[in-house]
Amino acid sequence: MAAEIRLVPCLSDNYAVILRDPASGAVAVVDAPDAAPIERALAAEKWKLTHILVTHHHGDHVQGIPALKQKYGAKVIGPRGEAAKIPMLDAAVGENDRVKVGGLEARVIETPGHTAGHISYWFDQEKLAFAGDTLFSIGCGRVIEGTPEMMWASLLKLRALPDDTRFYCGHEYTEANIRFALTIEPENKALAARAAEAKRQRAAGEATIPATIGEEKAANPFLRADQPAVAAAVGLAGKPAANVFAEIRARKNSFRG
Ligand code: ZN
Ligand code: FE
Repeated sequence: MAAEIRLVPCLSDNYAVILRDPASGAVAVVDAPDAAPIERALAAEKWKLTHILVTHHHGDHVQGIPALKQKYGAKVIGPRGEAAKIPMLDAAVGENDRVKVGGLEARVIETPGHTAGHISYWFDQEKLAFAGDTLFSIGCGRVIEGTPEMMWASLLKLRALPDDTRFYCGHEYTEANIRFALTIEPENKALAARAAEAKRQRAAGEATIPATIGEEKAANPFLRADQPAVAAAVGLAGKPAANVFAEIRARKNSFRG
C-alpha cells in the first residue's frame, strides 16, 4: 500500500511533511518547524506520530521536536554530522543508511552545502524524496556552511534519482525562484510551463510541491549548470559546472525580484 502524505504549512513559508504507512500505522514527520500545526494535522487524522526525520539543524526545521517528542514519544532520526545540534536525537544516520518507518524504507543521501551535515531521505519504493533545504522547486538552498562545489555535488546526487521521483522540500519558495530562473533561461519552455502551473497553484491556495525530479531537470537552473546554454547565459561558456553553479547561486543571493 502506498504511503499516505499530508503537507503541513508551518511558520511563514516552511513545510513539514507527514508520511504514514497504512500497513503498520507508523507515522513520520519530515522536519518539525512548529509543533502546533503538525499536532493539529495528526489529530485531524487520528494519527499517532512514531518518527521524526530531520534534514538539518536549522531552527526552522527542528524547533518543534521537543514538544512533539514529549507528546508522542516519537523516535528522532537526523544527520550524523549535526548530531550535537539537533534536540533529543535518538539515531544519527549518514550516507546510504536505511531508515524504516513501519514498512516504508528510506535511504539516506548526504547532501551537504546548505549546512555541513544536511541529509535527504529517499523512499525508493515510494518514488518519494525529502530534500530539506538542499533542492527547492526551481531553486536550491543558500550555501551557508559548505562550498559551491559541495552543494553542486549534492544537487547532482538528487538529480540522479529517477525522473518520476516526487520530492518535497522545506519551503514554499517556488514563485520567487521562478522569477529569478527566468532571468537565466528566459526561453526555457519547461520553465514557462512551470511558471504557469505555479501561478495557478498559488492562486488556488495550493502548494507548489511536490515536484518531480524530471520536471526540475528541465526547468531548475541550479540543476542545469552543466548545460552549455546556461553556462553561456552567465558568461561562463566552457567553464566547469561547479563554477557556473556558483555564479548562478551568487546572482540569486543578490536578486531582488
Ligand atoms: Zn535551513
Ligand atoms: Fe529552512
